[in-house]
Amino acid sequence: MLNINNPSLLSFLVSSEDDGIAVTNPAIGEVLGYVPIQTEQAIEQCIEQASIGQKRWAAMAAKERSGLLRCWFELIMENKEDLARLMTLEQGKPLAEAQGEVVYGASFVEWFAEEAKRTNGETIPAIAGNKRLMTIKQPVGVACAITPWNFPIAMITRKAAPALAAGCSFIVKPAELTPLCAFAVAELAYQAGIPRDVLQVVLGQDAPTVGSIFTSHPLIRKLSFTGSTQVGRILMEKSAHDIKRTSMELGGNAPFIVFDDANIEAAVQGALASKFRNAGQTCVCANRFYVHSSIYDQFVTKFDAAVQQLNVGNGLEDGVQVGPVISLQAKQNIQALTERAIEQGANPVSSWQPLDGLFVAPVVLKDVTHQMDIVSQEIFGPVAPVIAFDSDEELIEMANDTIYGLASYFYSQNIHRVWKIAEALEYGMVGINEGIISTEVAPFGGVKQSGIGREGGKQGIDEYLDIKYLCFGGS
Ligand code: NAP
Repeated sequence: MLNINNPSLLSFLVSSEDDGIAVTNPAIGEVLGYVPIQTEQAIEQCIEQASIGQKRWAAMAAKERSGLLRCWFELIMENKEDLARLMTLEQGKPLAEAQGEVVYGASFVEWFAEEAKRTNGETIPAIAGNKRLMTIKQPVGVACAITPWNFPIAMITRKAAPALAAGCSFIVKPAELTPLCAFAVAELAYQAGIPRDVLQVVLGQDAPTVGSIFTSHPLIRKLSFTGSTQVGRILMEKSAHDIKRTSMELGGNAPFIVFDDANIEAAVQGALASKFRNAGQTCVCANRFYVHSSIYDQFVTKFDAAVQQLNVGNGLEDGVQVGPVISLQAKQNIQALTERAIEQGANPVSSWQPLDGLFVAPVVLKDVTHQMDIVSQEIFGPVAPVIAFDSDEELIEMANDTIYGLASYFYSQNIHRVWKIAEALEYGMVGINEGIISTEVAPFGGVKQSGIGREGGKQGIDEYLDIKYLCFGGS
């Protein structure tokens, strides 16, 4: 049931499937409500309105935009409980995790409210005495975004906040499976005073149609996408025709490495946090574990003992740590990858039983080899394959043997090894003796086929700014 304290957050809902699309609770399969979808013409009108609104928005003083973003941040925080409940209902993650995501999502709005005032240009010493050179930064114009279902708020605010701070207007198409949080968080932006034409949420008949409009409309200057590498590639190809700026936050295949000099207890805790958050459905989730052969059995036994304690169930219930996965297709993919690994010689450390509905039992797999499919593909579920290694050289080769380069993790207490491995890992982010790395103050993003661009940190706003060089002659 969609019962929340602040019903104004749900003012966008329509009454039936005739007017919109159904949103379903993955934990119990119940329809939660219907959200509106727009025709192609209506989406084009949204873009035209965004273009008009952007000019007004960019003309405002940065301090004024900053104040409105600050107000949005405060409203998100005030409505944290309602937003978290909506998130658990439509996405499935446990309520405590959903509360954590609301705070994490809000942190980008707070951070970029501050950064709005710091889009400084620079002066450049001229090579000719009669010239004066400088740069200014200007908003790219209308920015749009397509976001996934696994972080229904944070993946939107991580883009919307820097875009608005920079002076862009912003249109987002959220995932069809989790639009409630997107519309609700936008509603709070309107209540904060951010104009409706400057921030818009749209859903079309289907995602490819919206993608085609976003990548071909002449008024759109920037596309920011978070999702699979496969879809990112399509959107980059489409954006190439009009040379639109793109940012891509794509898939990952994070290695989690435990050296023989690691603190094993800390590594087990880091592994749990990194692997099983959101039922294993994050782009930075550890996908494969490499453990030195001298501590392999010890690590696997302790890790499995901790995993067996995880409570699986409806995220609204007390004590649940692992909710449902997002869809039947997701569950089937996870099961198929796991069964294939078992056929290829992997062994569940404890027995692995199928669960009803969209629930998947967490499992640690031992006797895994680097050649198995489960090691090269994104699992996106609560399955932890553990591989043994003997030398640092062999380890680095295996860890970098992937098309992806988003997050990586390792545990070691040897400072020389720490520097060597941190530099050798071909990843945009490295967690060192730490399983949770995301924060609004640091640049998030990948290398190789995990993406282009950075979100968060002082870098995040640059994705929405153009640098203009001014050359003053005759000085
Ligand atoms: P996805 O299938 O690529 O979908 C992501 C978004 O793209 C959704 O809004 C989806 O719309 C839309 N979409 C799908 N096909 C499209 C097309 N042909 N044209 C335009 N838009 C299209 O990914 P997902 O399964 O939802 O999300 C999981 C993936 O996201 C994983 O690979 C994960 O690693 C990655 N991810 C990366 C990051 C990061 O920061 N690097 C963060 C989170 C997730 P519909 O929902 O309407 O189909």
